[in-house]
Parts: sequence; C-alpha cells; structure tokens
Amino acid sequence: MLSAETINYDINNICLKLNVLNVIRNEGVATKQFVSRMLNFNLTTVSHLINELHLSAGLLEVSGDDLSSGGRKPKLYRINSKAGFLVGVDIGGENLRFLLTDISGNIVFKIKKKNEFANSENKLMQDILENINNVIKDSGVAPGKIYGAGLSISGIIDSDNGKSVYCPNIDALNDFYIKKYIEEKTGIHTFVDDSVRCMTVAEKHYGAAKNYENFLFVGLGKGIGLGIYVNGKIYRGSNGLSGELGHITVAEDGPICNCGNKGCLEAIASSSGILKRATDGIKNKIATSLITKVQGDISKLTVEDISDAANAGDKFAYYIINRTGEYIGIAIAAALNLFGTELVVLGGGISQSGEIMINAIKRIVHMRALEVVSKKTKVIKSELDEYNAAWGAATKYINILFKDKDYNLIRRMNLK
Ligand SMILES: [Zn+2]
Repeated sequence: MLSAETINYDINNICLKLNVLNVIRNEGVATKQFVSRMLNFNLTTVSHLINELHLSAGLLEVSGDDLSSGGRKPKLYRINSKAGFLVGVDIGGENLRFLLTDISGNIVFKIKKKNEFANSENKLMQDILENINNVIKDSGVAPGKIYGAGLSISGIIDSDNGKSVYCPNIDALNDFYIKKYIEEKTGIHTFVDDSVRCMTVAEKHYGAAKNYENFLFVGLGKGIGLGIYVNGKIYRGSNGLSGELGHITVAEDGPICNCGNKGCLEAIASSSGILKRATDGIKNKIATSLITKVQGDISKLTVEDISDAANAGDKFAYYIINRTGEYIGIAIAAALNLFGTELVVLGGGISQSGEIMINAIKRIVHMRALEVVSKKTKVIKSELDEYNAAWGAATKYINILFKDKDYNLIRRMNLK
C-alpha cells in the first residue's frame, strides 16, 4: 500500500512537471534558467525535472541554443509535438469531418465525408467509428500514441455527462450518451462539446482571436450560436446553456422558429431562414434572376446562389442578403452591449456569403451597440477553414492533457 507521503510526493511531482511543461508550451521555447525564474523553483530541481521530461519521457526536445546570453549557451527546450496525437471529429447535419493533430495542435491528417445517416443512430455511429479508425490508420500513427478524442456536435450538448441532448439537424443524436459509446468502442478517452464552442477554441488558438482574452465568436449556419470567451476562458453558463444567439427575438411578429417562439434570429437569418424568405418572394412573383439560376426548380436554391446573385446586382437577392446581415447585426449589438469585447469573429458557412452581408452586419453593430462599447470593437470574418470545429475539439483535448487532474500527460505516461 502507498503511504500518504508517497501519494503526496507523487501528486506534487505531477504538478511540478505539468507546471514545467506549461511554461515551455506557453513560451514555445525556454531554457532551464527561464523556467526556474518563472516558477520560482531552484535551478537544480528544474534541471532534474526537465532532464526527466526530455530524456526519459520524450515529452521535450532540444530546439537549439539560447544565443541571447553570453558565455556557455544554455539549451532551449520545446514540447516534442510528436509525443502524442489526438483525434478531432466534427459531426454536423450535412458533413462529418475527422482529423488527427499532434500535441502541439498541428493537423497531420484529415478526412471529410457526407453525413448520410443523420436519422439512424446505429448507422451514424458505425460510420463515425469506421472513420475514426481510418483517420488513425491512414495517418500512420501508432494507435498507442493516441491520447484522446474531441468531438464537436451541432446541437445542445451536456459536456459534463458526455451527452448530446438536442440536435435539430441530427435526429440520431437526440438524447444520446455519445462519450460513453465512443469510449467503449474505441478505448479512447473522449471529450464532447457543441460545435460553436469548438470553433471558438480553434479561433483562440489558431485564428483571429489568438491575442485576445475576451472575444465573441458567432457561428452562422443551419443554426446560429455564440461562443463567449471571457477572461481567457470559454463561458458555458449553467448546464452548458449559454450563447443561444439564434433565439434572441429580432422581429416581434417574425416567422415561427423551431423553438416555438416567433421572430427569433435563427428563423430569419439561418440558412433555412434565408432560403424561406427567398422562395416566398419567388412564389409571390417578385422580379429576380434567382428562378432562372436554378432552372425553375426553387427547391435547388442555395444561400450561395442568392449571395452570387446579390453580388451580380440582382435587387431582390441583394435585399435578402443585406437584410440578413442587418438582423444578425441587431443580435450581435445586443451581445456586445452585454459582454463589451473588442473582437467579434464571424464564422460558419453563411459568413462566407460575401461583403454585402458582412458590411451590413458591421454597419448595424456600430449603429446599434452603445458607441462607447462598439467604437473599439473589430468585427471580422474567420480565416479558418471548414475543419475549424474538428480542430477546436482536438485542441480542447490537448488542453486536458496539459491541465486535467486525472487525464494529464504526466499521469497518462505513468511519470511520477
Ligand atoms: Zn427560436
């Protein structure tokens, strides 16, 4: 049996090593002397810990000499990115995306495919398991080096219990303990969150929000959600219920929303809301090129068709896209008045609809949010690609490896 002192020693040692790793991770590269100063530990202790993390564990590597100091040049250490790998999965209503990152977050392999089984729990889960296996196999990474998986799902997710609660576009996942299922079938420890929060994390680590401790991320697609990053952390709310920007009322007598209310932003400005407004106009014989664009079959109309037509000068298409941006701007202005951040990042498929919409959003945000709040606020489009949710999900797991009490790297590698 372990004595209380041995256990305490182990826990302290795990914490010390994690602290060392985190200093080096945050800096990119660091000398033993720098780590010792940052942590206020003596150099002998730090030197011992770094040697162990470098030589025995392979979690650190030498990246060169520190040329800034005179005399004998101290070595610079960095995280050995290839010490472990993570799976990132994005389950959307239309597409599934799978990727593998190393522990520094570099993507080493990725696959995208259509979600063909959004209505069948069995078939969808089979498809997901198969592709998790494929992404690992095809990357050439040894399965023993996979430390975890992050899942991003479009819908309302109970992260603490690993459950997808309500997914309006993926019926198969309503009320489903997906974390438990994946862990049982793959043996890979798994973390689940909703897609907007995963995209928000990707934006913080790799995108426009890198240097911000407070920002808002607006996910514009089939649904509309808000990622809230406050004081260097994602804000989740009670039970993970926060950021439902799509269900803010923007038109008191507007169309009925999926949630049962009237005039929610999502009913007007989500992809289905935009298409509904456009097809209503076409049915009412409004003058527009859209009908010839889809050769008379309005069921084929896409948001891209409408924004292309708007850019080409179609007045009705311009009205739809511009108005969509204005409604989104009203909701963002309300969010800005509440959170007062200096940055708003627009992401998701609809954010790619071109400058007409983006300009309308910016105009209304600056018109409607309090001037003292919005005058310093930048509203910009995300530069990340469609793998952002899967990337953010894997990155959330990387953060677990460097912080979590039970699932951190030191414990996982049995390094006490
Ligand atoms: Zn609603």
